Amino acid sequence: MVTKKEIYKTESIFSEDYDWDWLKNKIKGNVKINEKTNCWEWKGKLDPTGYARFQYKRQRWHAHRASFVVHNGKIPPFTMICHKCHIRHCVNPEHLYAGSHADNMRDMREAGRAFRGDKEYYKAHPELCKKGEECNFSKLTKNQVIMIKELYKLVPNCCSIGKFTGINRKTISDILNKISWSHLDG
Ligand SMILES: [Zn+2]
Repeated sequence: MVTKKEIYKTESIFSEDYDWDWLKNKIKGNVKINEKTNCWEWKGKLDPTGYARFQYKRQRWHAHRASFVVHNGKIPPFTMICHKCHIRHCVNPEHLYAGSHADNMRDMREAGRAFRGDKEYYKAHPELCKKGEECNFSKLTKNQVIMIKELYKLVPNCCSIGKFTGINRKTISDILNKISWSHLDG
């Protein structure tokens, strides 16, 4: 969810002096067009809530917002850039519109994910979820996982490791049983 503060912040960095053609090309070059939906699916980094982002002039940009601006002009005040297609990492300007907070909430309800949090977005789009800690709802860091594996060599007991580290026992046993983080074993 984009906050008001973020809207101001983002808007303030859009400037007529910026190289809009460069930005347009940057956006075009970073998407895979979905032939079925015509969504411009972002191939680059996503923020923890599933929105596309990139860096320009040492600023972090939301790619869908940048796309809206370079194709449609300025973002009207007090509006959010919403997705008609409900695909947060889509940056197709034709799928974007400037809406109110209420529009955004209605969109989310229609998409069936209101109040269920960002985790749900990634569940609905598992292809976005990279392995391990890059996966945005992963609670552990890579170092913690390595530590768990090392601890298990010393104390082969999930319960003890759980008590020692404060990490949920199920989480630990999933790691040890290679249900999660199995890509670390190489
Ligand atoms: Zn789309």
